[in-house]
Amino acid sequence: MNITKTNDEYVADTYARFPVEIVSGKGSIAVGSDGKEYIDLTSGIGVNSLGYCDGGWTAAVAAQAATLQHVSNLYHTEPSAKLAKALCEKSQMKKVFFCNSGAEANEGAIKSARKYAAEKKGADFYTVITLENSFHGRTLATLAATGQEVFHKDFTPLTPGFVSVKPNFEELENAVKNNKTAAVMLECIQGEGGVLPLGEDFLKKTEKLCKEEDVLLIVDEVQTGNGRTGAYFSYMNYGISPDVVTTAKGLGGGLPIGAVLFGEKTENVLKKGDHGSTFGANPVCAAAALYVVNTLDKKFLSEVKKKSDFVFSALKNADGIKSVSGEGLMIGIETERPAAEVINECIGRGVLCLKAKNKVRLLPPLNIPDDLLKKAVDVIKEVCKGE
Ligand SMILES: *Cc1c(COP(=O)(O)O)cnc(C)c1O
Repeated sequence: MNITKTNDEYVADTYARFPVEIVSGKGSIAVGSDGKEYIDLTSGIGVNSLGYCDGGWTAAVAAQAATLQHVSNLYHTEPSAKLAKALCEKSQMKKVFFCNSGAEANEGAIKSARKYAAEKKGADFYTVITLENSFHGRTLATLAATGQEVFHKDFTPLTPGFVSVKPNFEELENAVKNNKTAAVMLECIQGEGGVLPLGEDFLKKTEKLCKEEDVLLIVDEVQTGNGRTGAYFSYMNYGISPDVVTTAKGLGGGLPIGAVLFGEKTENVLKKGDHGSTFGANPVCAAAALYVVNTLDKKFLSEVKKKSDFVFSALKNADGIKSVSGEGLMIGIETERPAAEVINECIGRGVLCLKAKNKVRLLPPLNIPDDLLKKAVDVIKEVCKGE
């Protein structure tokens, strides 16, 4: 069958795809329908935390699929219980709500913030302050939270009650004080916005402001979470404690699962009947995520940091590279050549990379072998140099 032609004919035209058909993968290598092998520095946009078809992950998924695939949230299941406990232990949060995606996790966080503020301060305290250049999802509420006009166009009216400000502390403080604010929602490192870290000073001041104003701090860890930055969640790099944390992407290692984590202030906000998700904590997805969470121990995360140090030192000050940003294995490269050109040439040379705004973005599997990482980084350097 002609995969590309059939996709183009029958699948809605929402994605600008590269002319590559991927049929299988193992570890950090993706295999095309023409047999060509690619070193994959995208991990399915930060999803395949352990690469393709990791042995332990595959076994955990297969065993669960052969035991109990789904029961709904009308009954208790073991994978959900174990996963919730493991996530709370990693994050020092208190309770978890499970869903299927990043946008859905953010919807849950926004609902819980509105309920918290309505009960504490009144139903008119519903505004969520977000940052320009952020990305929080594609549903009507998470689009409203996303501080980038380009995503809003054609879909108005969006859900009301969102205000976006520049990632500047004075502006944020004014917005929090001049609106009837329920929450501040942010990514510690803006991913889709161009791999832009907000910085420790801004994050610490924001945390303090939120505590003083009794406004919830929601940290969107959909992309930065689950080991991506070398800490389990990126907020841990800055010593801050959010009230609500959302995650998805890398959590399931390739199966769809999202989570909203609640802290001390918020653990009992959502009550029976307030929220739900049919597939939430689906046992197969939960077993996959449990395998990922248990794999990301201290030793594993210190390896992520070592791999990160290697990439940063190899790319910083290299010919044709203007700057390198990010943390851990979430890396943005500002190139002299247009990013799209670099990415296309890398595909030709067997390396898959992502784009974020005007940058080349790397989100490799967290366990990418050092030799493959070096090989791929050498290709990127050659392409950036124009060799
Ligand atoms: C990808 C992403 C989302 C949306 O996640 P989906 O699973 O596509 O709904 C939300 N927030 C951030 C920071 C993301 O990177």
